[in-house]
Amino acid sequence: MDSSLSKIFNRLDSSFYPCEFSYADLIGMLSEREFSHLRKDDILRQNGYQTSVRCDACLDGHLAEVVIISTDEGYFICNRSMEPKTPINPLLYSQWQWNLPVFMKKIGKGLQLSVDPKPLSESDFWYLGIKTFNRMSVLVFYLRRIVETAKYQDFMIAQQTGSSVKNILILKSGDSSVPWLNIQPPPLFLSLEDLLKFEKSGIVFNLKQIKDVVTTGFRNIFFDERNGDVVLKSSTLGNITPSSPEYFFLSALWRSFDIPLTHQQIVTYMDEGLGEARDKNKKDDSQYCATIKSKIVSKLGEDVDKFLTATRTSGGLPAYRMFNPR
Ligand SMILES: [Zn+2]
Repeated sequence: MDSSLSKIFNRLDSSFYPCEFSYADLIGMLSEREFSHLRKDDILRQNGYQTSVRCDACLDGHLAEVVIISTDEGYFICNRSMEPKTPINPLLYSQWQWNLPVFMKKIGKGLQLSVDPKPLSESDFWYLGIKTFNRMSVLVFYLRRIVETAKYQDFMIAQQTGSSVKNILILKSGDSSVPWLNIQPPPLFLSLEDLLKFEKSGIVFNLKQIKDVVTTGFRNIFFDERNGDVVLKSSTLGNITPSSPEYFFLSALWRSFDIPLTHQQIVTYMDEGLGEARDKNKKDDSQYCATIKSKIVSKLGEDVDKFLTATRTSGGLPAYRMFNPR
């Protein structure tokens, strides 16, 4: 999608704060109406005028000083021609800043969050509040620019420890990829361009989109790769010893959630994880997987069936799949 908002969001993603645009920049991305909406909402705030312009009154092509008298009167000065003052339309030379605090408030309001958004890391990372969808509560953040993982991971962990809510949704500006975060359950990311769009009345929110992302994205089964805990709907079923064959069996399926993995794929993943400790005498991948799976059942109980099933790939190969329990 290449909407006017997505063009701006991609710019927010890459530019350093404050996010400034020239009028020509903005008009290259937005329609007049969109520009006036953002201006009216104070999301785009004028922060001055450019101070010089390439002279087109003479043939020298020098930089000429811009003088602004009022919002509708100004000129530039060419000392090399008989008529030094050339009138200009000040708007065309105006400069604008993306007003992040106002924009954050707009998002908080659009998502019906109760608290005011607050910046956590200068102007890159904001905490927006808690949102509940279908009885599932989510901490909502906004990451303007992809910074180093460690820089925002700390904030999120601090946020998590202060709250019983573990699900994290991060709104991000552009379409750049995000670093993998060692946070469980893994945060979900949603691009602003999937959440916001322009209509005649101005910016509107696609709340169904965010609800879909949250309700399908967060899982009722949770395999904690840090310590091997398996948690079903917030009650711990048991523990799988990290670096055991059973651990890598679950890890393979957890990382390919909802996707059938063939027995061979699972065994390959396990062998890589186990390294020298891999079972070098195993003959048959399917038999080996069945053995490992039954060891998992004996540790965690029959509830394993609620999130792990034997199935087939679309190509008909025997496989296992981990899925979201109801
Ligand atoms: Zn000139």
